[in-house]
Amino acid sequence: RTVYLDGRFVPFEEARVPIMDRGFLFADGIYEVSAVLDGRLVDNAAHLARLDRSLSEIGIANPYTIEAWTRLQIDLVARNGLTEGLVYMQVTRGVAERDFAFPAAGTPPTVVMFTQGKAIRANPLAETGAKVITVEDLRWKRRDIKSVALLAQVLAKQSAAAANVAEAWMVEDGVVTEGSSSTAFIVTGDDRIVTRPLSTAILPGITRKAVLRLAAEGGLGIEERPFSVEEAYAAAEAFYTSASAFVMPVVAIDGRPVGEGRPGPRTRRLRELYLAMARES
Ligand code: PMP
Repeated sequence: RTVYLDGRFVPFEEARVPIMDRGFLFADGIYEVSAVLDGRLVDNAAHLARLDRSLSEIGIANPYTIEAWTRLQIDLVARNGLTEGLVYMQVTRGVAERDFAFPAAGTPPTVVMFTQGKAIRANPLAETGAKVITVEDLRWKRRDIKSVALLAQVLAKQSAAAANVAEAWMVEDGVVTEGSSSTAFIVTGDDRIVTRPLSTAILPGITRKAVLRLAAEGGLGIEERPFSVEEAYAAAEAFYTSASAFVMPVVAIDGRPVGEGRPGPRTRRLRELYLAMARES
C-alpha cells in the first residue's frame, strides 16, 4: 500500500507525521474524500473545489493547483491498483511549536493522501436499506467547512454503531441537519424530495448537489427546506447521500419503519441515476 505524504509517495508503514503537527494537536486542518469507481474518480472536480474553499475559509493556502491534485490522485489510485473505493486527502496547518495562533508565514502545510478499497456500487446495504437513529447535533457553527475536527460526528456515529444501525441523523431545534457523514433526504407522500438548503449549518454535499440535479432532470419535485424528525418518521421514503455511500435508502428511523420499511422506488431510481452518472465521470 502506497500513500502520499508531503510531496512523496511512500510505503504506508513508513508514513509518519510529527507530534507537533497542528492536525494532531488542534484538528487544525481540512479533508476531502472522492469516490473511485471502475478505477476512475467520481465528480472529482467538485470535491477539489470544495477542498479549495474549505482551505481558504480557514486561511490555509492550497498547496497545489486543481490540476496537480488531480494528477496526484490518479497516480495514487494507479499505484494502489484501486478500482473501487475512496481517495482521502488531508491538509493541516503544518508542524510548529504548540501555540493556538497560526504559525509563522511560510510554515509548510502537511499534505496526506491515501486510498481505501470499499464496495460502493455492490454495497449490500443499498439493497436492504440502512437504519438510522437521531442524535443531538453537538457541532460548531461552521459546518460548511470540511474540518478534520470531527469529534461530534465520531460520537454520533458511535451511537449509531452501539444501536446497530448504519448512520446517525443529527438534530437541532427539532429539525434534521444532516447525517454524521452524509446528507439527509426524505421523500414526501406527494412525491417531493426534501433536503435542507445550504448554509453554514451543513456541509455542502457534493453527492447532494448531483442528486438534486438528477432529480430535477428526472422530473421529481424538490424542496430545499428543513424537515422535522416527526416529518421524517411519516415520510414515504428517506435516504442519505455521500461520496462513500452514493444514494443510500433509509428503511427505519429510531426503530420506526419508513414507508413500507423497504427501499422506496424514487430512492432506488435516484441511486440508479447516480450510478449511471458516476460511470460516465
Ligand atoms: N455531511 C457531512 C457532515 C459529511 O461528513 C459528509 C461526507 N463527507 C456529507 C455530508 C456528504 O458529503 P459528500 O456528498 O460530498 O460526500
